[in-house]
Amino acid sequence: MKTIAFIGLGHMGKPMALNLQKAGHALRVYDLQQAAMDELAAGGAVACESVLEAIQGASVVITMLPAGKHVNKVYTGPNGIITQVDQSALLIDCSTIDAATSRQLSAQAQARGLVMVDAPVSGGTGGAKAGTLTFIVGGSAEGLEQARPYLEKMGKAIFHAGDAGAGQVAKACNNMLLGILMAGTAEALALGVSQGLDPSVLSGIIAQSSGRNWATELYNPWPGVMEHAPASNNYAGGFGVDLMLKDLGLATESAVSVKAATPLGELARNLYALHSGKGHGGEDFSSILKLYQQAQ
Ligand code: NAD
Repeated sequence: MKTIAFIGLGHMGKPMALNLQKAGHALRVYDLQQAAMDELAAGGAVACESVLEAIQGASVVITMLPAGKHVNKVYTGPNGIITQVDQSALLIDCSTIDAATSRQLSAQAQARGLVMVDAPVSGGTGGAKAGTLTFIVGGSAEGLEQARPYLEKMGKAIFHAGDAGAGQVAKACNNMLLGILMAGTAEALALGVSQGLDPSVLSGIIAQSSGRNWATELYNPWPGVMEHAPASNNYAGGFGVDLMLKDLGLATESAVSVKAATPLGELARNLYALHSGKGHGGEDFSSILKLYQQAQ
């Protein structure tokens, strides 16, 4: 079993790394927070004090970091992955970042003879724990095949979106639609409830009618309608408002780069920005419902 360096052990990275560990891989892990490494170290992973230490002897490097600036730093900063890793290592960045940074890093890796893929995920913390994530891969077909055995230990669906950066473009498109759908669902439910409808009854009607979508089927934003949705747990856990805001910003950047019009994506980004500004940045993104409740 090959040794994997796993960098970034947050809400997503830690459960993903635990699944690789369960599958029998030797792990070398690094996170800025010592506590994030404890559970993996207890299972036999080597907890490291730097990125440089983590990549020593690793055949595969996986990163799961917040945003482009963090990813850029660990790959190209002093003692960064691209210049320091073993020449035969495979690089997999699972973070959701801007496509331009992904393309740039892939080119720099290629210049040193390294294979790198961008492999952002969908499926949230539940999917990360259950090992059922969807991977949306950008890079060469050969890079994807090299990455597949590792991705399969952490997910169940693996798509090849295209060349370097294409995984990020596809991920931004998906999350822009998700942000719009969640805001739209919250808007429709708030409209009905303001006129006396029961949110569960209205949700049931929409779920069986043409307005049905992922939020009404699996992730209802109204508290109490779905027992396991974050809305029924005070909007704790799940996918944070600020992460959705970041992803809608990535969609906007992507649209600007090709002069595409994304009016609904922009409107959704503004709604989540207003909501975050009111102090809800750390709550699950379905809490966008509160914006509509306050407006009534
Ligand atoms: P998180 O903030 O929980 O975790 C990020 C981790 O990276 C933290 O533990 C932090 O200490 C660590 N880190 C930051 N800079 C570092 C550095 N220089 N070296 C080492 N470690 C460093 O974020 P998350 O929720 O795990 O998300 C990670 C990525 O996955 C993001 O790009 C996010 O958009 C994406 N994503 C998240 C979800 C979700 O539901 N949370 C779903 C899909 C995709």
